[in-house]
Amino acid sequence: MATRKTSGTLPAVKRSHLCTFLDETLGVSSIADLSSNGLQVEGSETVHRIGCAVDACMATYRMAVRQKCDMLLVHHGIIWGGLASITGPVYRQIKYLADHSLNLYAAHLPLDLHPVLGNNARLADHLRLEKRKPFGWYKGTCIGFEGVRRSAISRDALVELLCRTLDTECTVLPFGTENIKHIAIVSGGAAGELPEAIAKKVDCFITGEPSHENYHAALEGNINVIYAGHYHTEKGGVQALGELIKKHFGIPTLFLDVPTPI
Ligand SMILES: [Zn+2]
Repeated sequence: MATRKTSGTLPAVKRSHLCTFLDETLGVSSIADLSSNGLQVEGSETVHRIGCAVDACMATYRMAVRQKCDMLLVHHGIIWGGLASITGPVYRQIKYLADHSLNLYAAHLPLDLHPVLGNNARLADHLRLEKRKPFGWYKGTCIGFEGVRRSAISRDALVELLCRTLDTECTVLPFGTENIKHIAIVSGGAAGELPEAIAKKVDCFITGEPSHENYHAALEGNINVIYAGHYHTEKGGVQALGELIKKHFGIPTLFLDVPTPI
């Protein structure tokens, strides 16, 4: 609460202070990523209300403005490996943000892999995974987890748990044991990690986006694969970060739900 101050009757926090807090909490500077993590577009210097969302897009921006947010905190930002030009949809997005003094802060891999707030930590919590170990690597950085449940869960019950908890629909490749204890998870688009899951003999590999290539690999590898949706496996991180900001700074945060079917 150290930096909380008021403007009129509304609690507020300086943008610079908020960004420093987020950069440090997420270890942004130490994680290699294609995404430019941190403040991507500068808006109002004072922040009263933060919208948390998975994707930077016009639908999210409009919702943020309707909800009177002056900062948007997203998992998928708009700057990936730099900007070649500021034209077309990118121009329109940046103009809209600037016209509405809406700050855009992005946290991609730092929010996938954070041991408490991260998308994968949240998924592992939902699945009650114990003895967690690193799983799924990107440029020397581990993104996901493997772990074991104290008691086995049936494949159908696991799918039902994911659908209910994440409010999602799952695609299932049911090629492994029906009773599952050992699970590996990598949120988002991580179908390419299936070989690691097969090599480690996990009972079930969970990721977001389906991959056609995985079908025969999973069948021949005798492994269950569950695709729980890129969007829905990556809601947990921004939601957790929103709760932390609310607690730390005393300013309102809200989750802006703009789901995709992917
Ligand atoms: Zn993603």
